[in-house]
Amino acid sequence: MTIQPALQLRDFIRNIPDFPKQGINFKDISPLLADGGAFSECTSELSIHMPDDIDAIVGIESRGFLFGAALAQLTGVGFVPIRKPGKLPAATHAIEYELEYGTDILEIHRDALSRGHKVVIVDDLLATGGTAAATIKLVEQLGGEVVACLFVIELDFLGGKEKLGNTPVFSLLHYDD
Ligand code: AMP
Repeated sequence: MTIQPALQLRDFIRNIPDFPKQGINFKDISPLLADGGAFSECTSELSIHMPDDIDAIVGIESRGFLFGAALAQLTGVGFVPIRKPGKLPAATHAIEYELEYGTDILEIHRDALSRGHKVVIVDDLLATGGTAAATIKLVEQLGGEVVACLFVIELDFLGGKEKLGNTPVFSLLHYDD
């Protein structure tokens, strides 16, 4: 399935002003997911930017699961979920990180990665970079090496990429507002 020729992936991202709170311009990926051609084009474009010899795709809850799992399926690489606290059933390793107001926690199964594993992190959107930076640390604390971070959307004006150090970052769509 392919997108109708006149449409681009950007046409499938919907702006929802003031969601979930005043001043946030939420990028809603629902129209992209709902269109088989757009979703599959998105996944195959992301796959072009997957480095070789990857041991695991790490997806961040929850929208990172959608794109990360689709990419894992397409490339034949295994998928590892990063979850909010209390969701993973086996022994976990956790990281606490700063939000604009307060802190949050992410968890990974301790046995999900082995020392030296090469990892690609996938999420739907890079905003301030706090979530992805915490995920990089989580992977590194288990001995993994993050070789790339892939996003569908990057909000350039928030400068999140700077929080990710030297890790190569690729985003399909860039926004200035
Ligand atoms: P950050 O840690 O600030 O880079 O935020 C990234 C995470 O928050 C991603 O998992 C996104 O799904 C979500 N997020 C942040 N800002 C937005 C936005 N404007 N629209 C949709 N999702 C967002």
